[in-house]
Amino acid sequence: MSTLSDSPKTQIPSLLHKLGKMTAIRDTGLLEQSLLKTLCPMLGLLESSLYRTDDLTAAVRVLHHHQSRVVESDGLARSVERTEQIYNSVDVPTEVKELLENVRLLGKPCTRKRTQASDLLIAYPLFGGREICGYFVFNRDREVTLAEDAIIKGVLEVFSNYYDLLDASQRDRLTGLLNRQALENSFDRIWTILSPTDDAAADPDGRRVPSSSRAHWVAVIDVDHFKNVNDSFGHVVGDEVLLLVSRVMMAELRSSDLLFRYGGEEFVALFSAPTADDAREVLERLRRAVERHSFPQVGHVTVSAGLSLADPSELPQEVLSCADRALYQAKRTGRNRVCDYQALLASGELEVPGYGGTELF
Ligand code: GH3
Ligand code: MG
Ligand code: MG
Repeated sequence: MSTLSDSPKTQIPSLLHKLGKMTAIRDTGLLEQSLLKTLCPMLGLLESSLYRTDDLTAAVRVLHHHQSRVVESDGLARSVERTEQIYNSVDVPTEVKELLENVRLLGKPCTRKRTQASDLLIAYPLFGGREICGYFVFNRDREVTLAEDAIIKGVLEVFSNYYDLLDASQRDRLTGLLNRQALENSFDRIWTILSPTDDAAADPDGRRVPSSSRAHWVAVIDVDHFKNVNDSFGHVVGDEVLLLVSRVMMAELRSSDLLFRYGGEEFVALFSAPTADDAREVLERLRRAVERHSFPQVGHVTVSAGLSLADPSELPQEVLSCADRALYQAKRTGRNRVCDYQALLASGELEVPGYGGTELF
């Protein structure tokens, strides 16, 4: 591992190589992981964290990166890396909270001695434009040198600039929600997380059923009779309704849930929930929030939604099309409702395509 205590001749090519790899990434989630993977070895760290503040809820999202060396049964030592994401800000230790508050107030890196350990807790601000949008945090037994300080700031700056660029390319211009391209990236990332491992058991049909803590759901949400809004009030008002509908729905979701504008007046939600009932309740909450909202000029607007379990043994596009079939059932049976694909199959309202069932649309 090349650390900053190595000579500049070995450091600089390694750093440039890592920055090159970082800027080849096309997904913001993977880019955040790559930041920690780049900085950890350069600073001789086994673990570090990235704390992100959320624009909408001011909540903190934390990415922990941990690297360890394990000696395996063949006697060889291997480096194992693990990155986990935590969304609940109550889990942030008080000493970290206090340090981040200092960094936020001063707008520059801060260090504090840890009370229960001999090492130092060090935090660097991450800037998005002129605002602080996160913190890079690590523990070490010694202060940061001038050379290390320059490298950390430089890498954080490259990361921030590139993150903003990537983030803008993954967002829809009208609503600011994630776009279709971002949905494909998220599908790749989530399908990798859901891919069968030891805690995912196959049911008798060979389908992979993720353990409830990892169950993810895909929903397609569509504004009801939206053509009427455009026809009655014009496209500008229609656009405003789309923007407001997306804000109303976002306000009902947790920061770990993802909402995409899939096209026109159609949205896709990607979220985790332990059971189908919980997932359905998430969508019912969105549906009710839109129904309650009073839109300027237009009054009331409703949405319908179709839900499907994100079964990793199927392709994301297949799961999306199941959610779409459930959406059309919601439309067919009166709109302003939520339908669950697996429940529709169980009740016989829909049949599995390719088994003699009739396609509705
Ligand atoms: P349903 O309840 O069956 O979904 O009916 P609908 O009228 O919502 O569905 P339809 O697919 O017939 O019409 C969707 C309309 O959405 C047609 C199109 O003009 C409008 N639309 C799509 N994208 C935009 C947009 O970006 N802005 C505005 N203002 N309208 C859009
Ligand atoms: Mg519609
Ligand atoms: Mg539509």
